[in-house]
Amino acid sequence: MRNSNKYEIADVKRVAEGQWDTVFQALCPELEHAIAHPGHHIDCPIHGGKEDFRLDRGFKQRGTAICTCGNWDGFSLLKELKGWALPEILEQVMGALGEQSVEPLAPTVSRPPPRQVEEKQDIRPTLRKRWEEALPLGRGEGRFMLASYLQFRGLPVKPMLSVLETEARLHPRMAYIEKGKVVSYYPALITIVRDAAGKPVTMHRTYLNRTENGVVEKAPVSKAKKLFPVG
Ligand SMILES: [Zn+2]
Repeated sequence: MRNSNKYEIADVKRVAEGQWDTVFQALCPELEHAIAHPGHHIDCPIHGGKEDFRLDRGFKQRGTAICTCGNWDGFSLLKELKGWALPEILEQVMGALGEQSVEPLAPTVSRPPPRQVEEKQDIRPTLRKRWEEALPLGRGEGRFMLASYLQFRGLPVKPMLSVLETEARLHPRMAYIEKGKVVSYYPALITIVRDAAGKPVTMHRTYLNRTENGVVEKAPVSKAKKLFPVG
């Protein structure tokens, strides 16, 4: 392993919640049938018992699975199936969710990666999830934060709000990742980025920080503005 303890389990848990189907699809071909039919029994990939094993109907949430030989959440199931230690499990899960490519580790040599491109994870589910978690800007907390930020930047609040309303949202707690590791969480303005045909291709993030006296400014991080990778 390159680098142990890159991730904290609490962070990975939060990121993976609701996305364990994506994780298992990427990492566990032996669960293919169980993923397609949650709640149905398959031959156990662990102890081999015939039609003993099933993924919980709601397994997307926490990766839960049950067999006559045990029961697991996503992390313990990966440990059981793959024999990985926890740091590797965390790294694999983040990789499967495409989070790692948000802030790739510095390449050791500048050689084009041979199969990496083909195997690139579909990040659209992640983008969709972040968008759904985020607050609309038309009212409430989202509107308040953005209006305060525009004010701080000295930008015209009303016209900017009406432009941004449909194309942007406020994520209340976005992971700030540095060198593949979640280092902190900030509210973030997320904006849809479209291609020439108007199709959404990725999202732009601006990390924000609300100071003690209520001013909303750019977050105190090295790169307050980031693009998600283009999926
Ligand atoms: Zn079993």
